[in-house]
Amino acid sequence: MTAFWTEADYDDHELVQLVRDAKSGLTAIIAIHSTHLGPGAGGTRFWHYSEPKAAMRDALRLSRGMSYKNAMAGLPMGGGKAVILADEARTKTPELLAAFGDAVEGLGGKYVTAEDVGITEADMVAVSERTRFVSGLPVEGEGSAGGDPGPFTAMGIYLGIKAAVKHKLGKDSVEGVHIAVQGTGSVGGGVARLLAKDGAQLTLSDINEERAQAMARDLGGEFVAPDAIMSTACDVFSPNALGAILDDEGIACLDCAIVAGGANNQFARAKHGAMLSERGILYAPDYVINAGGIISVAQEYLDRQQGEKGGINEVRKRIAQIPARLTQIWQESEATGVSSDVVADRMAQKLIGR
Ligand code: NAD
Repeated sequence: MTAFWTEADYDDHELVQLVRDAKSGLTAIIAIHSTHLGPGAGGTRFWHYSEPKAAMRDALRLSRGMSYKNAMAGLPMGGGKAVILADEARTKTPELLAAFGDAVEGLGGKYVTAEDVGITEADMVAVSERTRFVSGLPVEGEGSAGGDPGPFTAMGIYLGIKAAVKHKLGKDSVEGVHIAVQGTGSVGGGVARLLAKDGAQLTLSDINEERAQAMARDLGGEFVAPDAIMSTACDVFSPNALGAILDDEGIACLDCAIVAGGANNQFARAKHGAMLSERGILYAPDYVINAGGIISVAQEYLDRQQGEKGGINEVRKRIAQIPARLTQIWQESEATGVSSDVVADRMAQKLIGR
């Protein structure tokens, strides 16, 4: 059997820990990619994997992604991620969460956890009874950082779309600019509402058709069926639902000047970044434009841990820096002919000393 550290997803991660607690039934992997900029921060995923290898792959890839995302958000945080391997019935007990909390505590602050898929705020409160190295807890008071990261993510994407419209179309406002939004959940719905206030022309879609139709009516936009949103003729396509939508077929059907949205891992494969760029479409790297949520989660942690009092104002200040970072990426991409996703990766690698 090949050692896992020779596998493609292993990227000189600083630490990969297997956690087993027979009594509670906990099996988890905690991966810390880099602590160059600060503690490895990233959420915990609770998922039933078809095979353990898939859990390892997730932990390795997602923790590396967090290093890049935190670095590009200007946060004093490295990258980490935990996955809890749920059983088929997805049994989640207080004992299991306590054992997980003990494992995080055992790393002495090298890893900071929060919610991810399958983990709720109440779960994090349970984990926080065993360790201080947790974020994503209930908001402590007015002006404090924290709470649902969705609206902060949406705010960053809205500002990023405005920057893209300025850069590509030379317009100072999104008034009358046609934006097709895929996914009207926490993030996509928030983005659509902010854009509507500025008078953007909206086309919305979601597999929850009723909700998307209601939102379209509410915001004065159009609704299209989920299979029609990517080929909608528009100025900006904003993916805020699934990852891996930008594949051969997806890129070929786009009829827009800009792709800028919050969905994680939008490219099906690495080559698709260059493919999108060859079509002359401006791309806002996903982990740069969707950093608003992690900015809020990180600030909450810093305020609680280190007695900082940045609060919500500091969160807003950091989110306001997203457009400048995107513009820097696009300028570098145009100057070098390298696609914007690769430019972003290289900038992130430099920041984390790789
Ligand atoms: P959500 O579950 O609130 O919303 C997702 C929406 O997408 C749902 O309404 C769902 O019905 C819809 N959807 C699913 N498949 C679809 C399809 N094929 N076509 C159209 N719509 C579809 O999730 P969210 O928090 O809004 O997250 C959206 C994306 O943003 C995800 O990729 C997530 O990983 C990413 N993201 C979220 C945050 C955050 O703060 N919530 C931060 C960074 C990245």
